[in-house]
Order: sequence, then structure tokens, then C-alpha cells
Amino acid sequence: MKFLYNPPLIIKKIFRDFRWNTSNGKILLTFDDGPNPGTTEVILKKLSEEKIKALFFCVGDNVQKYPNLVRDILSEGHSVGNHTYNHKILSTLTKEEKDFQISSVNNLFAENFSISLKYFRPSHGKFQLSTSSLMKKHQLKNVMWSLLTYDYKNDLSIVKFAVEKYLKPDSIIVLHDSNKSKNIISDSISFIADEVEKRNYQFGEAEECLN
Ligand SMILES: [Zn+2]
Repeated sequence: MKFLYNPPLIIKKIFRDFRWNTSNGKILLTFDDGPNPGTTEVILKKLSEEKIKALFFCVGDNVQKYPNLVRDILSEGHSVGNHTYNHKILSTLTKEEKDFQISSVNNLFAENFSISLKYFRPSHGKFQLSTSSLMKKHQLKNVMWSLLTYDYKNDLSIVKFAVEKYLKPDSIIVLHDSNKSKNIISDSISFIADEVEKRNYQFGEAEECLN
């Protein structure tokens, strides 16, 4: 399943064990697909300037390639989540392959960073009915979103449109830590931060937002 900007209520109701919005009325910024040299650094710098703590959904393959970037994310006080081992769409995989896509990333973080991951986001945002039981098995919360910015289209005007129209006090916002959004990621974060301030909304951290 794939969605425009804000997923329909009926889907949120059917998959009510997934997180679509924050539980505390604050805004949570999430970054998918990293870590990635050339964007992770830019994102971390901007988040530090704006004093925002975000949640990074990391791809296992990138975690192995760029452990220092993971260390940077963690040392800045951000949270991390599981975004599969190599961005495979779960519905196309066997049961064993699905388990590998999830458990390998959990293991990577446990062994290299002493972190027990709590959050998962499926690659391409695609999930199935069986995703719920898969989450239970691996003791993860599936974190979806209520605001997809389409930043990967690399067009700041699309991000601005999405944010102006769909930003809510309890939004979970998706951005990307990848080359696709490289040219606009910093401005996108600034735009969101300005909009949040203008509306008197507040950013929260993963732990409090996903309780
Ligand atoms: Zn992704």
C-alpha cells in the first residue's frame, strides 16, 4: 500500500497497532534510508541549529558501511529505528527473508552500538496484514506517518505545499537521509521548523512521541 501525503483514516483504523501520529500532541521528524555520506552530516548540522531531536530509520547495509555516521547520529542525541537490511519490500519476500531483513538490523545495532531497537518502518512504506505479527515477533513498533513530504522528488515547492497543507500538532513527518533529497533537505528542515514555530506547535523526541 502506498499513500499520498496523509494516509486515509480507514487504513489508520484497520492498522491501529501501527503509529500514524504521535501520542503526545508533538511533532516527530523522521529520516529514512540513511546513514548516507553527504546528507547525514548536513541533516545533523541543521537539526542541531534548530534544536530538534529526530528519529532516523536506518538501512542495515548503510549502517555496516558507515558506522561513524551512526555514531554521530547517536552522539547528537537522536533516536534510531529499523528500516530493513537493504530496503527490500517485505511483501515480495519469503518468511525467512522477512525475518532476516528485520533481525539483521536489530542485531547490528545490538552488537555494535548496544542499542535494542524499538521502532520499525517498512521500506517504501509498504505493509501487509502480516506486518502486525511480524512486529510482535521482533518486538518492534511499526511507525508510519501522517505527513509524507515527498522530499525525494528534490523539489522544495512540493515539500512546502505538503507541510503547509498537512502539518498537524501530532504529525509524524517523513524526510529522507539520501542523495535523492540532498539539495533540498536543509531548506526543508528549516521550512518545517519555521512553520512549527509560527503555529506554536512543538517538536518532540521519539520516546515521548511514540509512547
Ligand atoms: Zn526507505
